[in-house]
Amino acid sequence: MGSLATENLKMEDLTFHNIINDTLRSSDNTHTVINPRTGSSLWPVPIASSQDFEDAVLAAQTAFKTWKLTTVSERQTLLTKLASNLEEHLPLLSQILALESGKSLLLSELDVRGAIAQCLHYAQPENALSDHIQFEDSSVKIIATHVPLGTVAAICPWNFPLILSNLKVVSSLVTGNCVIVKPSPFTPYAVLKWIELARGILPPGVLQCLNGGADLGQMMTLHPGIAKVSFTGTIAVGKAVMAACAKTLKKVTLELAGNDACIVCADADLDKTVKSVAGGAFFNAGQVCVATKRVYVHADIYEEFVRRLVEEVKGSYTVVEDASVPSVFGPVSNKVQFETVKRIVEDCKGRGYEIVTGGEVRDSASDKDAKEGKRGFWLEPTIVKGPPEDSMLVKEEQFGPILPVLSWSDEDDVIERSNLANAGLGASVYSTDLAQAERIARRLEAGSVWINQAERPHMGAYFSGFKDSGFGGEMGKQGLLSYSYTQSLHFAK
Ligand code: NAD
Repeated sequence: MGSLATENLKMEDLTFHNIINDTLRSSDNTHTVINPRTGSSLWPVPIASSQDFEDAVLAAQTAFKTWKLTTVSERQTLLTKLASNLEEHLPLLSQILALESGKSLLLSELDVRGAIAQCLHYAQPENALSDHIQFEDSSVKIIATHVPLGTVAAICPWNFPLILSNLKVVSSLVTGNCVIVKPSPFTPYAVLKWIELARGILPPGVLQCLNGGADLGQMMTLHPGIAKVSFTGTIAVGKAVMAACAKTLKKVTLELAGNDACIVCADADLDKTVKSVAGGAFFNAGQVCVATKRVYVHADIYEEFVRRLVEEVKGSYTVVEDASVPSVFGPVSNKVQFETVKRIVEDCKGRGYEIVTGGEVRDSASDKDAKEGKRGFWLEPTIVKGPPEDSMLVKEEQFGPILPVLSWSDEDDVIERSNLANAGLGASVYSTDLAQAERIARRLEAGSVWINQAERPHMGAYFSGFKDSGFGGEMGKQGLLSYSYTQSLHFAK
C-alpha cells in the first residue's frame, strides 16, 4: 500500500463498498488492484453480485418515478452541489487516483478538476437541452421536448477514471435519468469513493456504483431494466456491447479506440508544434483516447522536427518515481496494457526499426525503487523513426508511450495514409497557413480535428468516433440528445 496520507484519514484505513440505493454494501468476493508505479497491492474491493445488480436496478427504477418529474433547473442545482462535493474531497480522491492509476498527483488532481468542470458546464442553463419549436405555420405548431430514458448503465475504462465516468453521470442526470456506474476493475477506488461521498445530494437510487468486470458489464447490457448503455473502451468489447444491447433494443452510445494521425506541414511553427505534438503523444504516457498516435511530418522539415521532438521529450517527459513530483508522464496503468505496449516495442526492435529515443522497458522507475523491491509498469517515452505504414506500431492503437514519426511530401497521399478504414476518433493538423490546415482537416475522416493544438476534447463540443471508433457520441448539447427521447408535441391551431 502507498504511504500517502490525508490530514485526518490514513489511506491504509480506507474501505470501499458498492453503493446501492445510498447504502454501502460489501461482499466476501473481492479483488485487489496493483499500484502500477510500484507493484504494491492496494485495498480489497467488493465485486458486485448479480443480486447487487438486481437491487440497484430496482432502486433506480423506483427513484426514476419521481426523479423524471424534476425540472432541468432543479437538476442543475444538484449538479452544482456535486461539483462542490468533489471540490471538498479533491485531495482524498486525487491521492486514491494516483495510487490506483499510477498518475502523478498533478494528473490525478486534473482528473478530479475535469469532473468538477463537467458538473459546472452542464449546470449552466444554456448548456442543457430545452424545448424548441420544430415547425410552425397557420395550422400547426410542433414543439420538440426531451424525455429521459430511464436507467443508464455507464461502463467505463481506466485511463481517466473520474472524467470518463462523470461525463456519463452528468449527461444522465441533467437529462433526468438514473445512472449506475461501473468503473473499470483496474481503477475502481476513486469512483466508488466519490459516489459514496456524494450520498445525500441526490435522491437514493439516482446515482449508484457497482464494481465488477466483464461479467457485470454483460449483465448490464442484457438487463431489460436498463434503458441505455453508455460504453467507453476498446472496439472489440464495444462490438460485443452493441450486439448484447440489440436483444432488448437498448439505446447505446459507444466511445471507442482511435489511432489519431497528426499532420505537420512544411510551414508549421516548429517551436510551438514540437511542444504540442510531444504533449499530444506523451501526456499521461500516451494513455488518452485521442492521443497523437501517428505523426506525419513534411519531408522538408522531417529531420529537424525529429531532432527537436527527441530533445523536447527527453527534457519534459521523464520517468520519475515519486507521484508527488508534478509530472504529466507516468507508468502504463496496468499489466494488460503493459503487455500490449511491450509487444509493440519488441516488434519494433525485432524488425530493426530506428528507435531514436527510449525503447527501454523497465520493471522499476529507478535503481532506488528496484533495491526497495518496487516493481511497476514502466516504458521510457519512445520515438520510432520511419516505421513502415503497415507496421504494428502504425496500424494498431498503442495506447502507451511509443510514437511513430513518418514523412510525407504530397497532400493527397498523406490524407489517404491518415484516413483508416477501421478508426476515426481524432486527428490534428499543424500549419501557419490556416486555409491549408482547414482544407486538410475537412478531408480527415475523424470525429474531431484539432488545428495547431494537440487533441483535447472540449465539453462544449460534440465528441464522437467515425467508423469503428464509435457509435453516437457525448458532450456538447448534441451529446445529451442520446440520453433522451425527443418527443414531438403537435398543437393544432
Ligand atoms: P475495455 O474495452 O477492455 O473495457 C472497458 C469497460 O468494459 C470496462 O469497464 C470493462 O470491465 C468492461 N467490459 C469488458 N468486457 C465487457 C463485456 N463483454 N460487456 C460489457 N462490459 C465489458 O477497455 P479499457 O482497456 O478499459 O479502455 C481502454 C480503451 O478505451 C482504449 O482503446 C481507448 O482508446 C478507449 N477509450 C476511448 C475513449 C473515447 O472517448 N473514445 C476514451 C477513453 C478510452
